[in-house]
Amino acid sequence: MRDPREDPPGGTQADPIPLDDASLLKAYYAGQRLPSPVGGFLDLLGSRALPDGSARLLFECNSSSLRYLLTVPKGTRRDREKVREQMKSGLDPHCPRCGPARTLIRAAGDLQCPCGALFGKAP
Ligand SMILES: [Zn+2]
Repeated sequence: MRDPREDPPGGTQADPIPLDDASLLKAYYAGQRLPSPVGGFLDLLGSRALPDGSARLLFECNSSSLRYLLTVPKGTRRDREKVREQMKSGLDPHCPRCGPARTLIRAAGDLQCPCGALFGKAP
């Protein structure tokens, strides 16, 4: 009998296929539609912040209905420095990844971008 843990992800809600592609993350930060690996586009269904500061994004492919998972890494030290510099100069900090169009919001004491990335404690 096969070990069920060796089965590839099924692409369902409970078992989405992980995406590991830096160009997809870049397109996501830029607010572009993400191409699906099987053709068509990926529609964002939801995002969830994880305790380690990263966020998981659940997508559905609009041509195959397969579910995919993209992980937004937590803000790096360099990202957090950029945010601090913006605040020092009196600006509302924006996301160092997404650019000036996305202002960071305070979420449970952290500065967070709508993209899901966290950039440390709010002052
Ligand atoms: Zn962002």
